[in-house]
Amino acid sequence: MSIVIAIDGPSGSGKSTVARGVAKELGLSYLDTGAMYRGATWWAQRCMIDLDDQDLVAQAVKKMPLEVRLDPSDQRFICDGVDITEAIRASELSKVVSKVAVNLAVRREMKRLQREIIAAECTPHGFSQGAGIVAEGRDITTVVAPDADVRVLLTASAEARLARRAKEVRGSVDAQALAATRDEVLRRDRDDATVSEFMTAQDGVTTIDSSNLTIAEVESAVIKLAKEAFNG
Ligand code: C5P
Repeated sequence: MSIVIAIDGPSGSGKSTVARGVAKELGLSYLDTGAMYRGATWWAQRCMIDLDDQDLVAQAVKKMPLEVRLDPSDQRFICDGVDITEAIRASELSKVVSKVAVNLAVRREMKRLQREIIAAECTPHGFSQGAGIVAEGRDITTVVAPDADVRVLLTASAEARLARRAKEVRGSVDAQALAATRDEVLRRDRDDATVSEFMTAQDGVTTIDSSNLTIAEVESAVIKLAKEAFNG
């Protein structure tokens, strides 16, 4: 028996940290779908394609040689033989990833790839040997895996999200770090919100507001939902 846990939410809501932690705790695979959009951006740039040229970007993404390693202790993204796990976190790439993510043809291809990965992790092979997967990203509970066993929308106040990202990316929450992070978090969410709904929970999706919770508390809440899903 396998389980699919889907977690979405805006930037800085803590979804990656929580998804990784839950996957480790339950011995499941872990998929960071945002990193796939980042990988697509890296690939389009490597192919020297103008990110505003939607048709060319979509064609390139269909041929993207992306390999995803789903171990939550060491998630890796390899593209065209290059380990891009660190490169896709660069601030320069974060600023342009929404251009690729609002491309509807790219989204269709990503949905197809992500569904394929999720289905494969529910059959006995790979990291979790078929036990299942925790997948996170902005449209996971609504578009990619609306039939997941557990669907969570992780939210947090704009202040909490900004402070988390500033600390993560710049190592500080002083005024300068917050200002520099503001565009990355709030502008990106505004752009992303034009193509996916990740601020309000759909039917059957449990909202967890993490503003005043520790990571361990949020992880426990998700694990509780997973146990409930299996015990009826
Ligand atoms: O979560 P992360 O910040 O790494 O996501 C990077 C970008 O990928 C987001 O800003 C968004 O544009 C896009 N994304 C998306 N749908 C997802 C996951 C990410 O559009 N499921």
